[in-house]
Amino acid sequence: MITVGTELLLGETIDTNAARIGQALAGLGMPVIRRATVGDTPDAIKAVVGEALDRTGLVIVTGGLGPTQDDLTREAIASLLGVELRFDEAIWEALVRRWATIGRTIAESNRTQAMVPEGGTALPNRLGSAPGLWIDTPRGLVILLPGVPIEVDGLLADEVLPRLVARHGSVPITSRMVRTSGIPESRLGELLGPLEEGFRPVTLAYLPDQVGVDLRLTAWRLDPPTASAALDAAEAAIRGVAGAWIYTTGHRDLAEVVLDAARAAGATIAVAESCTGGLVAARLTAIPGSSDVFLGGIIAYADAVKEQQLGVPAALILEHGAVSEEVARAMVVGVASRTGADRAVALTGVAGPGGGSEAKPVGTVWLAWWRGGQVTTRRVCYPGDRGQVRERAAQTALLGLLGAD
Ligand code: AMP
Ligand code: MG
Repeated sequence: MITVGTELLLGETIDTNAARIGQALAGLGMPVIRRATVGDTPDAIKAVVGEALDRTGLVIVTGGLGPTQDDLTREAIASLLGVELRFDEAIWEALVRRWATIGRTIAESNRTQAMVPEGGTALPNRLGSAPGLWIDTPRGLVILLPGVPIEVDGLLADEVLPRLVARHGSVPITSRMVRTSGIPESRLGELLGPLEEGFRPVTLAYLPDQVGVDLRLTAWRLDPPTASAALDAAEAAIRGVAGAWIYTTGHRDLAEVVLDAARAAGATIAVAESCTGGLVAARLTAIPGSSDVFLGGIIAYADAVKEQQLGVPAALILEHGAVSEEVARAMVVGVASRTGADRAVALTGVAGPGGGSEAKPVGTVWLAWWRGGQVTTRRVCYPGDRGQVRERAAQTALLGLLGAD
């Protein structure tokens, strides 16, 4: 898969075509095995497409089919393949008609868009003026598509995918996401590494982000029932060693899983947030239908609000500091008793960049959970900047709300 365009190299345009084409081909069981981007330079286009053809025999190129000076893909490919470009009268007439229907006269420069490399087939483009080109050669198949993303989508659906399926058949690639949180990627790797061989032909990918590691299981080229059974087996094996950190299968956010669990138990939720300033409440209320479970909360940033709105004794703050187990505990008891919630969480911490001390460095957060009258607490010291500390603390808060009864 080659994307052409100097703007892509400069980072002015994000290469969405490569992602779309990668997804579409994976869905047919024809995964892209390498991707490259080059500028609008004929030599670079020739070199990269030639190399890819030698390696795979099937190359898709997007970009550089327009009518302007910097659109050089068509010429570069003809030169690479050693074929002439011939003017296609039918394409030109269709272009002239297309422009006439929007009340314009086509520019002479558009004639380049009717040029087809010898032996190539034009792929009609409903959404733009440059047709795609399908060029079967002794070296392999080259498919040229315009750069405009919506035209790429249209040509994929209308022409490219049906033709590829007709030629190669299709066996889909099926994926399943197993979402974990609270365990580092390296530790997961130690637990799951020894199992991976047994998953084949299912493969395992680790997709870490700020707040967790998603495990993507992929069944390659298996018919749907076989794929489903192979994914079930791999998921069960993973749960066997890492089940404690798995909060869902699929794409749901942790907040949604928390709400569903509380709903199933007939429980309500409230929050008392200091350093996260409402992030936990925002995560919960981002989920449609949260209102039947989530009662609300108090953002108690200042000590005075902790005292007045949550009933945290001033003496407690004076003695232990606002970031302390005692204050977190008093906050969660305060919000639970004031709202009547069955489940609650409180957070108080040092998000940084200032405010840290030796005893309580930046990233230190005390969390307390209330569940039906029982309080549990936990101190965590998160790495990262202010945003990361806050996001991670909110995630830990939600994980604790999920915890088993
Ligand atoms: P072109 O066909 O190269 O003239 O590109 C037409 C338009 O599509 C330009 O605005 C490009 O920035 C955009 N474009 C080209 N290639 C890509 C790509 N790989 N991903 C997203 N947009 C692109
Ligand atoms: Mg371009």
